[in-house]
Amino acid sequence: MEQALEIYERKGVQYGYAVSPEQLDDLIALYDAYDAAGGSPHEDFKGPLVAEELKAAIHASYRFTQVGGKLEPIRTSLMRDVEHCPICGITGPRELDHYLPKSGYRSLAIYVRNLVPLCHDCNQSKSAQEAGQPEHQFVHPYFEELPDVQFLRATVTLANGALTIDYDINPAADLPDILRTRLSFQLRRLKLNERLQREINTYLTSHAVMLATTFEAGGGENVSMFLNRQANVERRAFHRNHWRPVLLGALADHQGFCAGGFQGVLPGEHD
Ligand SMILES: [Zn+2]
Repeated sequence: MEQALEIYERKGVQYGYAVSPEQLDDLIALYDAYDAAGGSPHEDFKGPLVAEELKAAIHASYRFTQVGGKLEPIRTSLMRDVEHCPICGITGPRELDHYLPKSGYRSLAIYVRNLVPLCHDCNQSKSAQEAGQPEHQFVHPYFEELPDVQFLRATVTLANGALTIDYDINPAADLPDILRTRLSFQLRRLKLNERLQREINTYLTSHAVMLATTFEAGGGENVSMFLNRQANVERRAFHRNHWRPVLLGALADHQGFCAGGFQGVLPGEHD
C-alpha cells in the first residue's frame, strides 16, 4: 500500500498520499471485513471513515497495475495460471475486473481479492451492472464455491438444417433460490447464448469426422456413447457446469442429432 501511495510530482502536481499507520490498520480491517463477507456489497466497504483524499489516492493508484506500472506484479500474479475466464469459460482472461466497482468502492481499487481476471466480453457486460441488489450480484470466483450439482442446462433444437442450443439454469436443480436467480441473471447479462453460438459451431466442427466415424460404425447409439464419453473428458478438464460438457451431454440425449442429424448441420468431408 505504501508503494501504491508513494508521493511523487508530475508537471507541478503532487500525487500519492502520506498514509499513517492508523489509516493502514483501518484499511486492513476493511479488507478483512470484505473477506469475511465474501465480497458481498456493504456500505462499510465504501470506507465511510476513510479520508476522502486517501480514497482518491488509492483509486488513482489502480493505473499502476497496468503493464509497465509499478504495481504490474499484482496483475501478473492474478492472471498467472488462469487459462479460461472464470465466468464464461470461453476464452482466456485479459482484463482485471473490480468485483465491487472501483467507482463506488474506491478503497478496494487495488485490493487483490476484489480484482478478478475476466475476458473482455464478460468484463464489458458486467461493468454496466450496478452492484447493490443481491439478486444482481455476480458469483465471486474467489469466495463462492458453487454446489456440486449440474445447474447449467442446454436445450437442443434441430430444425431446417440449423442447430440451436439454448442455455439456461435448470429450474429443477438443487440450488438455493437466491443463487438460482443470480446465476440466471448472470447468464442473461453476459449474453451467453449469443456469445456461445459461434464457439459451439467451431467446437462441433472439430468433432465432425469422429461423429461420422462413430455413426458409420454403430449408428445413433454409438454416437450418443461417444458424446457422453467426450462429455466426461470435458467435465474433468473444466467442471460440470462448463458449456462444453453440458452441450455434449444434451446432444448425447438428442436422438435426432445422434441418428445422423449432425450431418445436416456440420460441414462434411466432401463438397
Ligand atoms: Zn468471460
